[in-house]
Amino acid sequence: MSIGRDVLSARVKSLSESATLEMTRLSRELKDKGIDVITLSIGEPDFDTPEPVKLAAKAAIDNNLTHYPPVPGFPELRKAITEKLLRDNNIAFKPSQIIVSTGAKQSISNAFFALIDEGDEVIIPAPFWVSYPEMVKMAGGTPVIIPSSVESDFKISAEQLEASITSRTKALIFSSPCNPSGSVFSKAELESFAEVIARHPRIFVISDEIYEYIRFEGEHQSISQFESVRDRVIIINGLSKGFAMTGWRVGYMAAAQVIADACNTIQGQYTSGSCTISQAAAITAINTNPAECADLKNMVEAFRERRDLLFNLLSEIKGVVPNKPEGAFYMFPDISYYFGKSDGNTQINNSYDLCLYLLDKAHVALVSGDAFGCDQCIRFSYATSTQLIVEAVKRVKLALEQLH
Ligand code: PMP
Ligand code: GLU
Repeated sequence: MSIGRDVLSARVKSLSESATLEMTRLSRELKDKGIDVITLSIGEPDFDTPEPVKLAAKAAIDNNLTHYPPVPGFPELRKAITEKLLRDNNIAFKPSQIIVSTGAKQSISNAFFALIDEGDEVIIPAPFWVSYPEMVKMAGGTPVIIPSSVESDFKISAEQLEASITSRTKALIFSSPCNPSGSVFSKAELESFAEVIARHPRIFVISDEIYEYIRFEGEHQSISQFESVRDRVIIINGLSKGFAMTGWRVGYMAAAQVIADACNTIQGQYTSGSCTISQAAAITAINTNPAECADLKNMVEAFRERRDLLFNLLSEIKGVVPNKPEGAFYMFPDISYYFGKSDGNTQINNSYDLCLYLLDKAHVALVSGDAFGCDQCIRFSYATSTQLIVEAVKRVKLALEQLH
């Protein structure tokens, strides 16, 4: 007798597969069949982890750093993170306020579990990273989505934020630079959000700054710089993006002591500390001043070049309206012009249809905007070579030209 999904908990039944990982899985399946798929779906740098970081990991193994780590991270790493926060963000934290986790993904879910009671609302400006609403639901909360579009550079206003607050609102979460739009909130925009949050003392801000170092204009701005809300900002960051360390699984949060202590307890029951070898490597990465890191500068320059290339190429396609991102390595063009069109066999009604059509016809894996709360759009991750970007857009253009 086969066991069906009815055995699963209601929470798990309502959980969607991560769309970023789903599209990457589908493209891998096609590749395994020998099909030449270009994968622009997964958001990870195509660069290698810097050499000194790898050496630190090798030394950790040789020194038998292979036993259980302290749950919140090695003291040396937590201290190094406080120094990083002072150096880059001008914010003083105590090492006890830093919790190191298995990727920023776990840091975010820890924060939700620490804050959310059944029915609490979490405000999520769209477009948002796919995992935020699912994590909120798993913690028993209700995601409250604020829409935006390419016309406003995918940014919400302080008025929209204010209007979405209710007596059940417990948190606001956003990423800046943003996954999937690459948009970056300015200091003035963040200040206007801080003014709203300051008037609502129950609300915490989860500020996902994982793309901090991947910026094409100006300095990184964090909402934690504003005194009026600082105590209620939970900073999320990690090494996956800035140091091309996606597979090492190290992220962290910096938060008020009570939140950090709660996350330490949660993590102690669920996973224990992040891998010892990765933590040893992370110390070397965190101690690296981004202003003096050639690997990082070269990577960001490469992303800027690719952004410009992709923007120019997409601008030439009829019905595709790209945004010009200031950070991260994603572009999120509006493709809704193609809704209602068909190639004679496949009718395109939404971004998911278009995404599957492009995978099938163009062999290019992208991620549909609906997963990010913005069905008019589709996400291109341009963390790949210029040659593949050119080829991918050529194929996408040809496939779109079949739709009438
Ligand atoms: N936040 C955002 C906005 C992301 O794009 C990602 C994807 N890597 C994460 C958090 C999680 O990062 P990781 O778990 O690899 O540290
Ligand atoms: N954050 C990356 C992305 O958005 C990695 C995949 C994931 O964990 O969602 O593609």
